[in-house]
Amino acid sequence: MTGKDIESFTTEYLKTSDLNSVAAEDAIYPDLAGMQIYSGSLVGFAAADDNLLVEDFKKEDIVYPDYMAPKEWMEDAKTVISFFLPFTELVCESNKKEYDIPYGPRITSQRCSAEWLHARIEGQKLVIDLMIKLCEFIKVQGCKAVAPTLSPQFRLITPYISNWSERHAAYVAGLGTFGLSKGLITERGMAGRFGSVITDAELTATIRPYSTPFEYCVMCGECQRRCPSNAIDVNRGCVKGKDQNICGPYVEESTLPKHGPNRIIRYGCGKCQVAVPCEHRKP
Ligand code: SF4
Ligand code: SF4
Repeated sequence: MTGKDIESFTTEYLKTSDLNSVAAEDAIYPDLAGMQIYSGSLVGFAAADDNLLVEDFKKEDIVYPDYMAPKEWMEDAKTVISFFLPFTELVCESNKKEYDIPYGPRITSQRCSAEWLHARIEGQKLVIDLMIKLCEFIKVQGCKAVAPTLSPQFRLITPYISNWSERHAAYVAGLGTFGLSKGLITERGMAGRFGSVITDAELTATIRPYSTPFEYCVMCGECQRRCPSNAIDVNRGCVKGKDQNICGPYVEESTLPKHGPNRIIRYGCGKCQVAVPCEHRKP
């Protein structure tokens, strides 16, 4: 098994998965039935013994001491496979409009487009399914595989820090660098979602085309201007520029009561990921 096999599997999965479009029974509005969520995939590979994964991310000012290195998830881990799935143009365009409209009988409001809500919630179902299918595919090839965020060992350490970080794994796997808004800027931009799988298969690590964590961010401050909760401040610099203690509660408050045909609870914002220079590309 090679990295190319993993890339081909992911590409094929995205083309054929029913989860890459909104099911009629989930659609918040009837015209959203069949809406495509993701427009492709990027895959990167990191060596499990990369020093960033083994030591650096355990530092308090980078991730957290309780962050678990690949070999703590799987004793004989060799490779971390990371993928990024960019949202479609339609999903991103829809969220450029202003939203903060009353929704339903509760004192709450829809703070992002219905398309974005689907991409955030139904899109995550696809990410989970892809991680499961990727693990199955790797096991059929005779190797071991575990998706950290689906493992019973996965846990939140604080409300906004967990013992595995998809974005940090993607950074090590050469997929991109962090932005002021704390998303990861990839070749296909920031608007989308990440997943990862650890395996004992030795796959060639992707050579990172960057050397520092914020290299792709041009500090233009557009994400700050887009943020409705004032959680981002370019003057605080790239490391401390986003205050998760402001963003988190704002996104939480966006939680809508059960809605749509399946009576699902959804939430989301994502304004800092659209109408910005890093939405679809490296700025
Ligand atoms: S909008 Fe500008 S400042 Fe914000 S993350 Fe993107 S490139 Fe960086
Ligand atoms: S998700 Fe929304 S609230 Fe949080 S930083 Fe981005 S724009 Fe601001």
